[in-house]
Amino acid sequence: MNIIDTIRDMQSLSNTQKRSGRRVGVVPTMGFLHEGHLSLIDMAKKHSDFVIVTIFVNPTQFGPNEDFDQYPRNFENDSKLCEQRGVDTIFAPNVKEMYPEKQTTWVVEEKLSQGLCGKSRPGHFKGVTSVVTKLFNATLPDVAVFGQKDAQQAAVLKKMTLDLNFPIEIIVAPLVREADGLAMSSRNKYLTDDERKRALVISRTLKETKEQLESGSISSASPNEIAAKITDQITQAGGKVDYVEIVDNATLDPVTDFSGETLIAVAAYFGKARLLDNVVIKIN
Ligand code: AMP
Repeated sequence: MNIIDTIRDMQSLSNTQKRSGRRVGVVPTMGFLHEGHLSLIDMAKKHSDFVIVTIFVNPTQFGPNEDFDQYPRNFENDSKLCEQRGVDTIFAPNVKEMYPEKQTTWVVEEKLSQGLCGKSRPGHFKGVTSVVTKLFNATLPDVAVFGQKDAQQAAVLKKMTLDLNFPIEIIVAPLVREADGLAMSSRNKYLTDDERKRALVISRTLKETKEQLESGSISSASPNEIAAKITDQITQAGGKVDYVEIVDNATLDPVTDFSGETLIAVAAYFGKARLLDNVVIKIN
């Protein structure tokens, strides 16, 4: 496994692989890798012949009062995990390499990025779509894998790829959880033991809601009633709810019933950790 830190070297290696007939896959990450990220690598290996993991904590997707400086980093452990998992190359540029001068050109998705996290993190998705475009241009992939953990991000990036005709197949891999249900996240590191226990309310409530909706036992409840109930349960456990949104899984528009494929997405703070989780409801 090799480690590359310049865009020029990355492009050149990717081009060489493609000229040899290999399909190049990329898994963009901000590092501090866990099993969720590693499952994306496994997925990329299934769909390509040469797998690049990018590790870059992207300053432009963090707001001024967010955790860019504190975001956990451990490059040594990340490279060990990538090597064990059979990654071919890590692309780990520094901020100067990615943003050599004040950037005045941005990629903005104007619809799917507006609700959910877009409301409470203005500018976040502009940073995400722009950096993913730059990472695509550096790694020149045929296929890119993102996680359902960040359902809105995956939807925004799919739409960006479609709208801007990037010749890249986007794959969304399932959300990976800890044994007790907590959605894996680099930000779980911020949780104290007590907060971590209380945060289990998020995955527990979402799982119960999905089971109840799909089995028909709460079929008369409206999305608003269900969102209010989930909000209550998280609040009672000591969480501060940013949002509980019940939306169409493809358009991310709010729904009034559960007839289509529906996403229930939650963002909530436990201590200083902002946690995301979601389930998709499919009623036959
Ligand atoms: P991050 O390093 O948090 O920016 O995440 C990099 C990629 O890993 C994104 O596509 C995330 O959606 C994905 N990811 C993070 N956590 C998980 C998880 N628990 N399950 C599946 N994918 C994940």
